[in-house]
Amino acid sequence: MIKEKTKKILQTLPKQVELVAAAKDRTSEEIGQTIESGVKIIGENYLKQAKLHYNSIGSRVKWHFIGHLQKNKVRKAVKIFDLIETLDSLKLAEVINKECKRINKVMPVLIEVNSASEAQKFGITPEEVIKFKEELDQLSYLKVCGLMTMGPFAKNPEEARPYFRQTKKVFDKLEDKYQDNHWRYLSMGMSSSYKIAVEEGANIVRIGTAIFGPREKK
Ligand SMILES: *Cc1c(COP(=O)(O)O)cnc(C)c1O
Repeated sequence: MIKEKTKKILQTLPKQVELVAAAKDRTSEEIGQTIESGVKIIGENYLKQAKLHYNSIGSRVKWHFIGHLQKNKVRKAVKIFDLIETLDSLKLAEVINKECKRINKVMPVLIEVNSASEAQKFGITPEEVIKFKEELDQLSYLKVCGLMTMGPFAKNPEEARPYFRQTKKVFDKLEDKYQDNHWRYLSMGMSSSYKIAVEEGANIVRIGTAIFGPREKK
C-alpha cells in the first residue's frame, strides 16, 4: 500500500516539486518502503525518532526537520539534518549558529511563517519576515533558503489557499529584494492540501497520511 501510494503521488507532482515523506510515528520499515518507491527526503518532527531512523537508514536520503525544535535538542539535530524547515525564532537561530560553528557546518534553514497569524502557532508573521531574514543574515553558519508554512488548520483545504498565496507573495518579494541564489524553497501543503499548495507555488510538499495511512495515536 505504501509503495503504491508513494508512486502515485510522485507521478502527479510537477517535476520541480520535491516530496518530503512526513514520517512522524512511523517505523523504519515503513519509511524504507517509501524510499524504495522513490522518496528522497524524509521529514521528522521528533529528534528521538529521527535518530532511530537515521541510524537504520543513513544518508542515502536527505533529512528535513519539520517539527518544533527545542534549543536543548539543537546540538544533536544539526548533526543529522540537511535542512531545518521550521526556524521560528532568533533565539533558536542563534543556538543553531553556535552549534554549527562548533562542528563547522553551514546549516540550510527555512523560515517558518505563521501565515494566518494564529496565536497558538509557531512562526514569524508575514509582516516580520523581512526583518527576521536580515537578522538571520548576520549568522554565518546559517544559510537561509526560503519559507515554510503550515497554513491554518481547516476541514476544507481550500481555506488554506489565501494563506499559501500570501506566503508565496512574501517569498517572491524576498527573492526580488536579495537576488540570493540560496533562496529557492517554498514548503507548503500536506496530505489534504498539497495540490492547492502546488497550484499556489510550493516546491516542497510534506505528506504523511496520504503515503502511510492514518496515524495511530501512541
Ligand atoms: C505531520 C506533518 C505533515 C504531514 O501531515 P499529513 O496530514 O499527515 O500529510 C506536514 N507537515 C508537518 C509540519 C507535519 O508535522
